Amino acid sequence: MDLIVAGNWKMNMTLPEGREFLNDLKDYLSGKTIQSQLILGVPFIHLGESQGVKESGIYLAAQNCSQYSSGAYTGEVSAAQVESTGSEYVILGHSERRQYFGDSDHVINQKIREALSNNLRPIFCVGELLQERQNGNQENVVNLQLENGLNGISESEMEKIIIAYEPVWAIGTGETASPEQAEEMHASIRKRLGSLYTEDVAQKTPILYGGSVKPDNAKDIFGQPNVNGGLIGGASLKLDSYTELIRIAEELA
Ligand code: PEP
Repeated sequence: MDLIVAGNWKMNMTLPEGREFLNDLKDYLSGKTIQSQLILGVPFIHLGESQGVKESGIYLAAQNCSQYSSGAYTGEVSAAQVESTGSEYVILGHSERRQYFGDSDHVINQKIREALSNNLRPIFCVGELLQERQNGNQENVVNLQLENGLNGISESEMEKIIIAYEPVWAIGTGETASPEQAEEMHASIRKRLGSLYTEDVAQKTPILYGGSVKPDNAKDIFGQPNVNGGLIGGASLKLDSYTELIRIAEELA
């Protein structure tokens, strides 16, 4: 399957800064045929650019959506509102949402259901804490996050889901899982998807790695058999490093 190079801007980029980045990225892509799928997780204010960048092969993702459909939820943004911008993706279950905003497995499951009902493709993040890995518990933790987050999601809905394995100890820390650690967990996730669904679902679901991916480590990570691309925070904020990651993915295509 084609590699996915997904950025996550987090709470960075003003409207003019985002527009400048997207215009520069469009210029970079112009005249090139790109195999990889390019997705950028952006703050809600940038989602209005979704239609304008699609023709260049850039897909914008929200970084969250509400678990509720509409109504008196001041400050929230619904999946239907995200979809109405032309955006097709939403990052859900990111560890920063889990840690700072109390998104539990149950809430994440509600958000995934809401996203799917509104025709969005969830990029569903899972990953263990450092302590959990030190205790050798990482696969149990991730399996439980998968089971809870995907509770009630049908086999046909799984066609829309992208999983991102993001070990929490590697996010924004400069520390990366080794290619072997990433491959081991991705294989375990695929196996779990096989037992929760079917072997076909397990093989077709893209599983991205996230956690301090940079141009100097991307080739080894993206090159692992069960790694289908990356969810990239810091290195997606600079055009140079994001386009370098695209170039590396293209080399491996
Ligand atoms: C992320 O935000 O999902 C992430 C992996 O961040 P970073 O690449 O900066 O570690």
